Amino acid sequence: MRRKTVTVRIGQVNVGSDFPVVVQSMTNTETADVIRTVEQIIALHRAGSELVRVTVNNDEAARAVPEIVTELNNRKVPVPIIGDFHYNGHQLLTSYPDCAQVLAKYRINPGNVGTKARDKNFTTIIEQAIRFDKPVRIGVNWGSLDQQILTEMMDLNSKISAPLSAQEVMIKAMVESAMRSARLAEDVGLGHDRIIISGKVSGVQTLIEVYRQLAAACDYPLHLGLTEAGMGNKGIIASTAGLAVLLQQGIGDTIRVSLTPQPGGDRTQEVLVAQQILQSLELRNFNPQVSACPGCGRTTSTLFQKLAEDINGYIREQMPHWRTEYPGIEEMKVAVMGCVVNGPGESKHAHIGISLPGTGEAPKAPVYIDGKHRVTLKGDKIAEEFQQILLNYIREKYGRKRD
Ligand code: SF4
Repeated sequence: MRRKTVTVRIGQVNVGSDFPVVVQSMTNTETADVIRTVEQIIALHRAGSELVRVTVNNDEAARAVPEIVTELNNRKVPVPIIGDFHYNGHQLLTSYPDCAQVLAKYRINPGNVGTKARDKNFTTIIEQAIRFDKPVRIGVNWGSLDQQILTEMMDLNSKISAPLSAQEVMIKAMVESAMRSARLAEDVGLGHDRIIISGKVSGVQTLIEVYRQLAAACDYPLHLGLTEAGMGNKGIIASTAGLAVLLQQGIGDTIRVSLTPQPGGDRTQEVLVAQQILQSLELRNFNPQVSACPGCGRTTSTLFQKLAEDINGYIREQMPHWRTEYPGIEEMKVAVMGCVVNGPGESKHAHIGISLPGTGEAPKAPVYIDGKHRVTLKGDKIAEEFQQILLNYIREKYGRKRD
């Protein structure tokens, strides 16, 4: 069951337990480079990012933000843009009211708002959020944890009879930092339903513990993400491991998968991974799912792997158009199986499935639609014929009924 939270509205997107878990992402272009940033935001949004964060790190970036939002509006890309502020957020939000106005949310790291003037700078940001009626994310990060709170808690820990480990104290300090900042924000006048919390770390077990404690400490929506998750498989698997455990426990209202792209790599991969995590956990449906058997000694041909790949590619290509043309298509399940042993059974559990011939089996491929055997394909055009059957099925089942 989902952990109960208040709802925080970010632009037109609602975040909280009464709404589906939201996917977000972050650009890696220089924000001052309006053209490249706009292009990347559009790519991330088209891939499925429902919120996009940009860094606002200097005057040039703060000046660029209104231009970026105007261009997105002109191009009819209504994705809420979140500003990520560190060190100088209080100055930028005060000096550039247009930037403060067009952002849909401000992200503040309480460990990075200054040391001596920490509360004053934090308060200035909150006052701007109140003035422009914006929500904030109080995003604590283990790499920039408020040292004053950590030292305080380490000192206290050393005085108790059974001291906690340094790691346990660090987790508690992260939670304390987030909660103190949220209290201060509310004391300044920000609404309880204008605050989202995150506590990012780079270790999976630590992440799970930080969020369990945050979840128990408040009813603010939580933004989940493993920071510095890394590149390639390592980043994907570590993020999935951490986020899946928490989401399964009902913890998490918005997620980001922080992958380091290969040089020149595609930034949208982080969005697809986030969607796949939610879809695999059956929390949301974004795309039709193609399940294929792993293959084994019963099938020596690669026909079924090729068909599964082709069908996946075909669906991916068509989805931007199908999504509007065929509402509900994202729930469709397609099965491509390598032989008759498990093929028919598995195919019957999908909306549409095909069981290809295994080694030594007759060269024919039964097709199942909504659990019933409909047709058996033969010859060397099986792939094309199956694709056509799939398209007919989609039109029939998900096509808008026109009067
Ligand atoms: S469906 Fe057939 S080919 Fe695929 S894993 Fe099972 S037994 Fe092997």
